[in-house]
Amino acid sequence: MTTPASLEEPAALPPTEHPAIAGSSSPPPVIGVLALQGAFAEHVRALARLGVISREVRLPADLDGLDGLIVPGGESTTIGKLLGRTGLLDAIRQQATADALPVWGTCAGLIVLATDIGDSGSRIGQPQPLLGLMDLRVRRNAFGSQLDSFETDLAAPAVADRPLPAVFIRAPVIEATGDGVEVLARLPDGRPVAARQGRFLATAFHPELTDDLAFHRYFVEVVAAEAAERRSA
Ligand code: GLN
Repeated sequence: MTTPASLEEPAALPPTEHPAIAGSSSPPPVIGVLALQGAFAEHVRALARLGVISREVRLPADLDGLDGLIVPGGESTTIGKLLGRTGLLDAIRQQATADALPVWGTCAGLIVLATDIGDSGSRIGQPQPLLGLMDLRVRRNAFGSQLDSFETDLAAPAVADRPLPAVFIRAPVIEATGDGVEVLARLPDGRPVAARQGRFLATAFHPELTDDLAFHRYFVEVVAAEAAERRSA
């Protein structure tokens, strides 16, 4: 039996041929993927398809020398609890603020990146731990049972000049954004579902569960630009 074309992995580019890196004499960036829970393997695979070196992050020492970090989808209460238990909550906050580490959160990762989840947080009596790096008010599980999971195409002009496939799974929505937050994509009803604040990126959906690498490419470009700035500082 032959593999359907849609399931074939495109050949990975060697790291040095990635467009964000090609022609530069600096070392290719290394991007960490938080691997405590959730859909981290899919991000690792998407980065490999782009020819980007990645590292699974489970302990604070795994952050050493990283140029960027992805917080995957999963269950934000579990990820938050494990971040606290491993010491990664403080270590990531420190590296993201003091060392200007770019961070991208998808779905549960968006929730963990936000400063405010209103009353949609943990129901077990304790506030759920958040990194709080992006000035966003977010609502967890914003779509009722009928729309628990759905797929749609979204315009994200800063990311690509074509509609991008977006998979939502018990997804959050962004209810309000602070100063300096750029909305990258909205639902047809106008609610924001992707945003950028400087070196921080958040998507309510899962680009890593599609074949489309546009958001990964966009994050690699943010990471490469930040790394170049660090070197010239
Ligand atoms: N509903 C999950 C949460 O609130 C997020 C779901 C996901 O990451 N796909 O943490």
